[in-house]
Amino acid sequence: MAEIEERVREVLAGILPRVTVVAAAKTRAPDEIRAALAGGIRVVGENYVQEAEAAQNALGRGAAEWHLIGALQRNKARDAVRLFDLIQTVDSLRLAEKLDAEGRKIGRVVPILIEVNSGREPEKAGVLPEDVEGLARAIAGLSSIEVRGLMTLGPALAEPGALRPFFAETKRRLDALARLELPNARMTILSMGMSDSYREAIEEGATMVRLGTALFGLRGEDG
Ligand SMILES: *Cc1c(COP(=O)(O)O)cnc(C)c1O
Repeated sequence: MAEIEERVREVLAGILPRVTVVAAAKTRAPDEIRAALAGGIRVVGENYVQEAEAAQNALGRGAAEWHLIGALQRNKARDAVRLFDLIQTVDSLRLAEKLDAEGRKIGRVVPILIEVNSGREPEKAGVLPEDVEGLARAIAGLSSIEVRGLMTLGPALAEPGALRPFFAETKRRLDALARLELPNARMTILSMGMSDSYREAIEEGATMVRLGTALFGLRGEDG
């Protein structure tokens, strides 16, 4: 665990403070997440509602800011609104409407990012870049949702430099959305870049990166 804490400190020291580092915690044990928090991590990203719940039971809801970075099923929307401070993976009006309804029930505005399928891969989640504006305009009518920006994975390419055009297009879409000044929106977050590609993503305008192996080591590896 001391290794995780040290690795986190090193990685954070190399990233500008204006960039938020989300520790992508899938399959990690609470002790590993605790070590990352000790190293300076403030935001934990979970792919599944159940894993977030388990981590929060072990560490405390207030131990971190919690983000959902995996796909959300509509039947888990109620739990998601309770467990997460930011839901990064909204890619349909139906899901946004469900989150809006659940937020309204408990008197909370639900902050979200719209997920963009910047690689235009048929099997991937996210809306196509050209459909982002239409979805954002529709979601702007939901008063218990606040759109905070965009999230993208980009295609799985071996060479991180090859991801730059996908990051750059997502950045252009965010800037275009910000100029619309939609209601119930504050378009300031651009979540893109993972362990292999976060440097390129930051150069292309990311304000938030999601790091797993760079912080925790290879999955299954002993901290
Ligand atoms: C796992 C995961 C990451 C982090 O991936 P690494 O390559 O381990 O840094 C980032 N974003 C999402 C959505 C993930 O599922």
